[in-house]
Amino acid sequence: MTSPDATPPLSTDAATAITKAVHDGFDAQTKFLADFVRIPSLRFEEGPAQDYMADALRDRGYKVDDWTIHLSDLEHLPGFGPIDGDFSRARSVVGSHHPSETKGRSLILQGHLDVVPAGPSDMWTHPPFEPVIEGGWMYGRGAGDMKAGTVAALFALDALRAAGFEPAATVHFQSVIEEESTGLGALSTLQRGYRADVAVLPEPSELTINRAQVGALWFRLRVRGKPVHVSHAGEGSNAILAGYDMIRALQEMEAEWNARAADHPVYADVPHPLNFNAGKIAGGDWASSVPAWCDIDCRMGVLPGQDLAEARAEIEARVAAAARDHPFLSNSPPEVVWNGFQAEGYVLGEDADPALDVMRAAHAQVFGADSKIEETKMTALTDTRFYGLYYDIPAFCIGPRAQNIHGFDERVDLQSVRDLTVVLALFIAQWCGLNPLRD
Ligand code: ZN
Repeated sequence: MTSPDATPPLSTDAATAITKAVHDGFDAQTKFLADFVRIPSLRFEEGPAQDYMADALRDRGYKVDDWTIHLSDLEHLPGFGPIDGDFSRARSVVGSHHPSETKGRSLILQGHLDVVPAGPSDMWTHPPFEPVIEGGWMYGRGAGDMKAGTVAALFALDALRAAGFEPAATVHFQSVIEEESTGLGALSTLQRGYRADVAVLPEPSELTINRAQVGALWFRLRVRGKPVHVSHAGEGSNAILAGYDMIRALQEMEAEWNARAADHPVYADVPHPLNFNAGKIAGGDWASSVPAWCDIDCRMGVLPGQDLAEARAEIEARVAAAARDHPFLSNSPPEVVWNGFQAEGYVLGEDADPALDVMRAAHAQVFGADSKIEETKMTALTDTRFYGLYYDIPAFCIGPRAQNIHGFDERVDLQSVRDLTVVLALFIAQWCGLNPLRD
C-alpha cells in the first residue's frame, strides 16, 4: 500500500487543545465505558453491544456500515477458523470518517466487544457486568479486554472534533466480534473491503507497543468409552479417565514445542511462549455408569512462522499415539475436531516503522521526552494477524493497563485509559493530519 508523505508536525497549540479536550471529555468517556461494560456481550450474544456502538457512531455523524456476517463469504479466506455455534446473528459495525480534504495517511482503529465468560459470579467481588470504580480501577468483565481501549479510540476522535479539527485522512472505526474465538469479525471487515495505511488495535498492553504475538489452534477431543454397570467397571472403558490420558500426552507435546521455541528468532527469550489449555470438559451420563463419552475443548499456542497444517498433523499424531497404548482407544481412537481459532502467529515488520515513529512521538508528548515506549511480545493473540499477514496492512496494539483479563475481578486502570486516549488522539492528529472543522 502506498502511503502519502508524512504530515507536517502538529502545532503546540493544536496538541494542547486536543489534550485538553480529552481531559474535558473524560468523565463522559468513563460513563460511556461503564454503560458499555454493563452489556454482557458474550459469544453469539453481541447484538446489543453492537447496537450501542453503532448508535454512538451514528450520533457522531460517521457513515455507519452494519452488516450480518455470512460464513460463506469468509470460509475460503486465509486465517478462517470454523464456528461451533449459532452464528446467524453475527454482525460487524464500521463507522467511517471521510475528510473534506485528504492530506495524511489513513487509519483503521479496531476494537472487539466480545468478552469471555465470567465464570462463577460468586468468585467476583462485584457482579461481572455491574461495573464499579474503586481506587482508580474500573471492574467488570470486558472492561480491560478490551472495551476501555475501544472507547478510548472513540473518544480520542471526539477530542479532535472538540478541539476544532477533523482527521485529514480516512478513518475506519471498526467494532468487531469473535476476537476471542476465531477472529472472524476482523476478517469480515477485510472481506468487506476496508483498508488503511495502518491498523491500531487498543488491546490492553500497559501502554506498550505490542508487535509480536503467537498463534493458536482450537480443537475438541472426542473421546469414547465402553459403558457398563459400575459393578463390572473393570470390563468397561472410562472415557473421562481416558480423556485425562490424552491431556497428559498433549502436555508432553507442549513441553517439546516450548523447548523448540528456544531457537525461534523472535520468541527465544520469552519463557514458555506456547501454552496448552484443556479449557472445557464434558462427559458421561450417569453416576453409576462407566462414561461412554468425554469431550475436551483445547487450545494450543503456535509460534510465528509455525506451519498450521504441520501443527495440526502433529497434534493428531500425538493423540493417535497415546490412543495406541490404550486398551479400548486403540480400537476406537479419539476424534480431533478443529472448532475455532486456526490462527498463525504474527510479527510486525519494518513496514510499520513510520506509524511506530508517530506513536513513539505521541507517547513522548504525554510522558515526557525521556520516556521510552516499550515494545512487547505476547504469548496470546489478537486480530492484528489478519491485517499484517494477509492484507499487507501493518497492525499493532497499544492499550491501557488491565489486570485479571479472562479471570475474576477483571479491571482497568482509568489513569492509563486517560493517558491512552491522549496518546491516541495525538497519534491520529499526526498520522492523519488535521483539517479545521467547518461550521
Ligand atoms: Zn482482547
